[in-house]
Amino acid sequence: MEKKYDIKLEEILRGWGKLVKIKFIKNDLSEKEKEIVAERLKTCNTCPNRTRLYICKSCGCFLPAKVVLMNQKCIENKWPH
Ligand code: SF4
Repeated sequence: MEKKYDIKLEEILRGWGKLVKIKFIKNDLSEKEKEIVAERLKTCNTCPNRTRLYICKSCGCFLPAKVVLMNQKCIENKWPH
């Protein structure tokens, strides 16, 4: 099977850490970042690659953790940002 995406373990952990911080400690995303996250989630929510558990079938990432990392990109180039 062709490997389409190679996200580093460090990035996965960073995404989870940021998600936990935003949800349970302090949401310190800027207004622009909040807008970007909302647009990304909106796109993923209508994408056939999103599973019920919010895993992307294309990259294997847990989407709530991925969308908060500003350096990440949709492997299918569907995100507006
Ligand atoms: S990251 Fe891209 S391919 Fe994956 S579910 Fe979101 S929009 Fe779809």
